Amino acid sequence: MASLRAKATIFPISVCLLALAIADFVMFTVVGSLPPLALVVSLVLLAVVVLASLVHARQLVHPINELMPTIDREGHLELRSTAARITPPVELQALTKAIDQLAESQQRDKLARQKLERVRSEFLANVSHELRTPIFAVQGFIETLLDGAVDDPKVNRDFLERARVQSERLNSLLNDLIDISRIESGEMRMSFRMFDIQPFLRDFTSEMQPMARAKHIELYFTGNVLPHHEVSVFADKERIKQVLINLTDNAIKYSNEGTAIKIELIDDEASNDQVTIRVVDNGIGIAPEHLPRLFERFYRVDKGRARSAPGGGTPDGTGLGLAIVKHIIEAHHGKISVMSEPGKGSTFQFTLRKDSAWSEVE
Ligand code: ADP
Repeated sequence: MASLRAKATIFPISVCLLALAIADFVMFTVVGSLPPLALVVSLVLLAVVVLASLVHARQLVHPINELMPTIDREGHLELRSTAARITPPVELQALTKAIDQLAESQQRDKLARQKLERVRSEFLANVSHELRTPIFAVQGFIETLLDGAVDDPKVNRDFLERARVQSERLNSLLNDLIDISRIESGEMRMSFRMFDIQPFLRDFTSEMQPMARAKHIELYFTGNVLPHHEVSVFADKERIKQVLINLTDNAIKYSNEGTAIKIELIDDEASNDQVTIRVVDNGIGIAPEHLPRLFERFYRVDKGRARSAPGGGTPDGTGLGLAIVKHIIEAHHGKISVMSEPGKGSTFQFTLRKDSAWSEVE
């Protein structure tokens, strides 16, 4: 800093001294000697110029000093401006403002990086935790069988069956992980086209009948659309089927025997550009405090609940299903939401666009 201050000071002083020396030299050659008055005036002028130069240099150097970047303890470049402490000269105000903006955007980037890092490590911790459970379970069953249970006809089949269920869980977890990473990285290509949603939903309901029937649940299709009235939507059939499988599978899993689940199509004539599809169950419902986080990756209302869901039997959920569903619906420019009441049931609903205009804009 000292060199900058020195440079800023020395230049005007040197110019003034040079001017004085020339004036004195001219006077000396013309008059033959320097009158005392000229000497005093020269010295006074010199003192004034030195003082002014020092003040001027300080005014320039002090704000620049304050604007200088510093390195914080973690080695990050940290910019700070004088704005809060001193008012910089006009020439430096624009620079101060620019540096303030740079510092703000740098701070924003730093926070975003920290958030990303946090999300990444949480994700990795969740993945390892979720993988560990079924792997340990399969290992345990195999070791028990090898330790002699394989020759015990009362338990050997049971252990093998349990190992199979856990390996299925591992498989579905890996599939969900692949899906979510493909969607989030933008690698999952959607194949949008126009199709009639009503027969699609009727077929889907028929396909899911055996699963519902196995739990003595009535599954039916309904809506406000006349049976043969065509309602075209612009969507990816396969992905919408994946959404419906997830929602209906959950509805069956979290419903008691003897209840009903409806798949409903609402053609909102008033809005004219979208339809609403609902999966409505009379199952165990979800407490309000869980609803805001339900679509987050790995979020489960109660880790033990999927296992103890009415009827049980199916392997644990992965907690990724609804996160995938939300991504898919958002890729369709639709909206997904949930309404639920513990003990009464849940309604998951999403919208699909009838027009293709949104995809042409992209
Ligand atoms: P999972 O694979 O565990 O089912 P999801 O992401 O599909 O994961 O669901 C997250 C959580 O939301 C589930 O663990 C469950 O607690 C709750 N849930 C989802 N659908 C329903 C439903 N229809 N009824 C009650 N709870 C539900």
